[in-house]
Amino acid sequence: MTARVLVVDDIPANVRLLEARLSAEYFDVVTASNGAEALAICERAECDIVLLDVMMPDMDGFEVCRRIKADRNTHHIPVVMVTALDHPSDRIRGLDAGADDFLTKPISDVALIARVRSLSRLKMMTDELRMRALTSREIGIVDPDNQTLTDDGGAGRILVVDDRISSSDRLVAALSATHGVDVEASADEALFRAVEGQYDLLIVSLALESCDALRLCSQIRSLERTRNVPILALYENDDHARMIRGLEIGVNDYLMRPIDKNELHARVRTQIRKKRYADRLRDNVQQSIEMAITDALTGLFNRRYMESHLGALVEQASARGKPLTALMLDIDYFKSVNDTYGHDAGDDVLREFATRIRKSIRGIDLACRLGGEEFVIIMPETDVAVAATVAERLRRRIASEPFVIAAGAAKLEITISIGVATRDVSDDNAAAILKRADQALYRAKRDGRNRVVAEAA
Ligand code: GH3
Ligand code: MG
Ligand code: MG
Repeated sequence: MTARVLVVDDIPANVRLLEARLSAEYFDVVTASNGAEALAICERAECDIVLLDVMMPDMDGFEVCRRIKADRNTHHIPVVMVTALDHPSDRIRGLDAGADDFLTKPISDVALIARVRSLSRLKMMTDELRMRALTSREIGIVDPDNQTLTDDGGAGRILVVDDRISSSDRLVAALSATHGVDVEASADEALFRAVEGQYDLLIVSLALESCDALRLCSQIRSLERTRNVPILALYENDDHARMIRGLEIGVNDYLMRPIDKNELHARVRTQIRKKRYADRLRDNVQQSIEMAITDALTGLFNRRYMESHLGALVEQASARGKPLTALMLDIDYFKSVNDTYGHDAGDDVLREFATRIRKSIRGIDLACRLGGEEFVIIMPETDVAVAATVAERLRRRIASEPFVIAAGAAKLEITISIGVATRDVSDDNAAAILKRADQALYRAKRDGRNRVVAEAA
């Protein structure tokens, strides 16, 4: 997919120049001649990356950048400041406004394309995660965008990979007041520590003596455990070529030696914030997957998950010739719990019931709430006799110990009925097993409740 680049400059000739170069590399280009126009385009999500002129009348580039980065709908769009100013202090101002990088006029083609490629690649990845996470925001999971707007990028865990002691000492001195910093001189060890260490950022010297630092960067990018850890590369003054190679390999950001301390801080902060944002998005997606398969009240699996998974379990059992047994459970006279003590007390009973179920089953058993006060437990590799014993133990565990409700306000005697059915060699269909378990449960109810009935073999 081609990235769409927004070029913002008040001088039409500058816009045309960048537009021509980017189009030649097959980027889509949109343009704006002032800050307000640019903000509107970002707000409408019509661009993947912004190239932003600093000096513009009305609203200057720093202010435009600040506004893009302060808005939950646009903060994730990378911004590259395009400037004739090349003082560290200007860069710090831009980084403090949230800029992701700088290009100095006159702009080198190679630097321009490498930077735009690298930032738009990351943007596409973030977009994918954001799209999935937006859905989960609607169902009430913590909002990663809001958390990121207030994250100052401090207290990160950083691994510095540098074999020059004077250099790594300076980095540690500069960073350790705000971050936790480890140092590693050997590239092999560094890879190992990066995998194990749960770092928020790796700072890698591209001038390692003992090995090719770019190879290390590319290994870090390809390993599952380190793929998402940002790399900030340090390169020598005269070595732009390696820096560009680094960006192609997947280095996220870079700093030229001699290192300006403030710029170091600003870039470290930006990378750590981005990393945490991506982590939050991923957690959020994970959480919504969990929510989709669990029952909110009890934390057991829900009906949808059980129905989709049981088919696979039955198939596996028949392929291996192993038994598989289902328990269908229902709380006796549960309606009267609600009627007498209220719905909240009923919920307390359901939660406690789920807890006792969990204590009575093995890790490979699958417990779920079908709905209301009906539950199912699927027991792989378990025949009907063993399952009936487990069911009987659970029945006793429920009946013998009263349920505490309303934070200790009352104790209720609760009983359950259980129907047991096992996979039949002749019919190994999930729905049929559940149906037979339900019929056994019906008999348990009819015969007086508080009992286990196993289907006739
Ligand atoms: P039986 O012994 O025949 O199973 O009788 P019962 O009262 O348990 O069965 P019935 O199916 O008539 O009633 C089930 C009740 O469960 C009705 C409903 O109000 C209640 N219920 C269903 N879902 C929930 C829930 O999420 N929370 C609470 N507190 N009650 C629920
Ligand atoms: Mg009931
Ligand atoms: Mg019922």
